[in-house]
Amino acid sequence: MSAVKSAEMRKTMEWEDNVRRVVPYVAGEQPKGENIIKLNTNECPYPPAPGVARLAAELDCSALRLYPDSGAAPLAEALAAYYGVKKEQVFVGVGSDDVLALAFLTFFNSGRPILFPDVTYSFYDVWAELYRIPYRTCGLDENWHIRPGDYRQPNGGVIFPNPNAPTGLLEGTETVEEIVRANREVIVIVDEAYIDFGGVSAIPLLKKYENLMIVQTFSKSRALAGLRVGFAIGNEKLIRYLNDVKFSFNSYTMNLPAQILGAEAVQDDAYFKEVRDKIVATRERAKKTLSELGFTFPDSSANFIFASHKTVPAREIFEKLRERDIYVRYWDKPRIGNSLRISVGTDAQMDALTAALGEILEGK
Ligand code: PMP
Repeated sequence: MSAVKSAEMRKTMEWEDNVRRVVPYVAGEQPKGENIIKLNTNECPYPPAPGVARLAAELDCSALRLYPDSGAAPLAEALAAYYGVKKEQVFVGVGSDDVLALAFLTFFNSGRPILFPDVTYSFYDVWAELYRIPYRTCGLDENWHIRPGDYRQPNGGVIFPNPNAPTGLLEGTETVEEIVRANREVIVIVDEAYIDFGGVSAIPLLKKYENLMIVQTFSKSRALAGLRVGFAIGNEKLIRYLNDVKFSFNSYTMNLPAQILGAEAVQDDAYFKEVRDKIVATRERAKKTLSELGFTFPDSSANFIFASHKTVPAREIFEKLRERDIYVRYWDKPRIGNSLRISVGTDAQMDALTAALGEILEGK
């Protein structure tokens, strides 16, 4: 081989050609500093259950010498008791993103496209691309609702959030059931990250459908985004498959403090309900003020409101709020580029938001 030719060959065989290239998910900003009003990542504005702080202070650090329970037993047991299922039906992960990423790897292997809504959690297409899973999006209707008929086409699996994100719109249990029933040969994942703020969980449907998996998180209604806890509930066989993949990837994902503190959060149901009710009350109040300011939005059942202003572009409002240290979420994307996703904070935070919006929109 001539020197020129082998040099050319080397050029076409760069190490970078063998890299799994991905366009990563872009999480919301985590700005630092005092007096910031952070309404951009749907965190809970209240602290976690008081027992969490107490147990964290009492944590026996000598126990950290040992590996934690690889199945996160304390937490899986607390969740099983809370939701009235067997502990073998519960899978716990490091945030629901971890659970969902493993679920994509475990269940979406048919080679046929998986289906999800065109406007939805923007991590789904990232995981599909990461694992080279073909996918097809199904358009929401003009009122941002899922059209269940779209999920009757041949597919390799289905995933959708309920309530959907970033719209906040809830689908009734009948719609969820219709989709699960029409897709018995594949796994249907219902991502219930926001279900506690006004929806009815599809967990009871697990008794009827083997192909259903429900995913929830501690990051929103349980005020523990920083602890990283999410979970799935499904039939025992499905959870076993998920565990087989997890144990082939990394056995000890969930650290011991997260298992103990997470279990404590589940057990304090009174506090959970108190916080949830406060957030729902603030959301309903915020809907009224936002309407008065000229915003329209789907009727959210989540801890955020997906709002567009009738005259002022979302990007402009987003930037002006940011200048005032108020962070909301904006995506420069088709269909949603004129909307802001505003997380529900405390009443005081929402009042500050309203005051800032009043100034920004004055005379427009
Ligand atoms: N699903 C949906 C619909 C979400 O909005 C989020 C939050 N970004 C998640 C899952 C993941 O949340 P976490 O990993 O904090 O549990």
